Amino acid sequence: MTHPFPIAIVGAGFSGLAMALAARRHGLDQDLVIFEAAERLGGTWRDNTYPGCACDVPSHLYSLRDAPNPDWSRTYGGQAEILAYMEAVADAQGLKDHIRFQTRVQRADWDGARGLWVLSLDDGGQHEARALILALGPLAIPNIPDFPGAETFEGAAFHTQRWDHSVELAGKRVAVIGTGASAIQVVPAIADQVAHLDLYQRTPAWIISRSDRTFSPFERTVFRSVPGARWLYRNLLFAIRELVFAPALTRNGLLTRAMTALLERNLRVSVADPDLRERLRPSYTPGCKRIIVSDDYYPALQRDTVHLVDQAVRAITPTGVVGADGVERPADVIVYATGFKPTEFLSKIEIQAGEATVQARWEERVEALHGTCIAGFPNLFLMLGPNTGLGHNSVILMAEAQADYTAQCLRRIRDGGLLGLEVRPEVQSAHQASIERALRRTVWLSGCASWYQAGGSSPILWPDSVWAFQRRLARPRWSDFIALHPER
Ligand code: NAP
Repeated sequence: MTHPFPIAIVGAGFSGLAMALAARRHGLDQDLVIFEAAERLGGTWRDNTYPGCACDVPSHLYSLRDAPNPDWSRTYGGQAEILAYMEAVADAQGLKDHIRFQTRVQRADWDGARGLWVLSLDDGGQHEARALILALGPLAIPNIPDFPGAETFEGAAFHTQRWDHSVELAGKRVAVIGTGASAIQVVPAIADQVAHLDLYQRTPAWIISRSDRTFSPFERTVFRSVPGARWLYRNLLFAIRELVFAPALTRNGLLTRAMTALLERNLRVSVADPDLRERLRPSYTPGCKRIIVSDDYYPALQRDTVHLVDQAVRAITPTGVVGADGVERPADVIVYATGFKPTEFLSKIEIQAGEATVQARWEERVEALHGTCIAGFPNLFLMLGPNTGLGHNSVILMAEAQADYTAQCLRRIRDGGLLGLEVRPEVQSAHQASIERALRRTVWLSGCASWYQAGGSSPILWPDSVWAFQRRLARPRWSDFIALHPER
């Protein structure tokens, strides 16, 4: 007989679902509530509905371990198919019964005497839980640069993550600002509808071929019926990324040079005009910014309607966009494909233990043991927290490793009759120092500017393979934690 053990998860995206499934596996789901501010689950895959939105990790790898899907329609699932998969998993596993939709957690206060997190909700209510798991998604808060004059623009303007489907693009002049993963999917998807598209590129991206295709009915039958077929395919996808891409990104000289040659070749064979090719050639080491997986971006840029404006944006006027050259190019619609604010992902919830808040702590330095536990904040667990991002593999694997680790910590608290576990500050500091050392040899700090970086380092990326992360988190080391006992 186990005591009630209330657990609160905030966020019903992939990492929240992964955590809920881990809680189930470990017998911890009797008193589990998932708070979701929106009216449906899905996180990133609910919010990003821009034309062309799809995942750049193959779907058989970008899916939950406990919920394999033999029926993926193509190699790289599109947004609608991924969202439908998440809904189906939540239905099949009964997870929706645990979700409180349209309920935002505004703050969380640690009550040390009782070993409980007290959550304040936007409906005025409160909720108490022994453990608080934040699965907020690192790329949830859009970055919209403060361009002078933006507020005077008379047409429609929106960020890729808040696509306004009521705006008709046919026959319009559209300005797309940015050339990251989102823009590179949007541009080919809208290029044949618009009258004219100006793409504002501050820094070009390295592009790798995608080779997307549909799975035949025969292949799907094999995935469904042949024992081990799906497992083998998934693990092949995984192993290639671990053995080739992970070392290339952590600056293995030979592999990085081979990757550069491959990307150079893709640019050469895809773009015929030497002038355009030069303007599209990045000057930084591949991987420093995320390598973009696309077969239709280079062809889209060679359409008559699409114009590469390879310069920064100086200002926005009521009728258009002014580039660094001072020329105003008219626009009816502006699409901000300008990315996210990953280090602000906790900014919407105030989290306090004693005098300390996570936000104030992270203003000094963003760190967490295994991207999961923060010293001074007992029983608080982050999904996809600092230094868990990847440039080479499925981030769901990272969330699942964290979820299993967290579930083991929760069992330790429950079965040991503890009030909580709190990571030792010196363990967290040593962990962070080892990450900083490893980061220094990676391509991510090799001289470009990207959302991966802040304060001269990267609070975002994990500087090793997924295997290494999984190994580290397979069993919590209890000496890393202070056990908090109830007062007798
Ligand atoms: P991003 O990679 O951060 O790209 C933002 C773009 O906006 C960059 O080209 C950047 O230029 C430009 N930009 C930002 N501020 C600007 C300014 N003030 N003036 C002019 N240009 C500016 O954002 P994203 O494309 O949304 O992608 C973010 C991440 O989301 C990706 O790296 C990936 O992890 C994920 N994502 C994945 C997929 C997928 O699976 N297919 C799709 C979309 C997004 P600079 O490069 O010069 O800074």
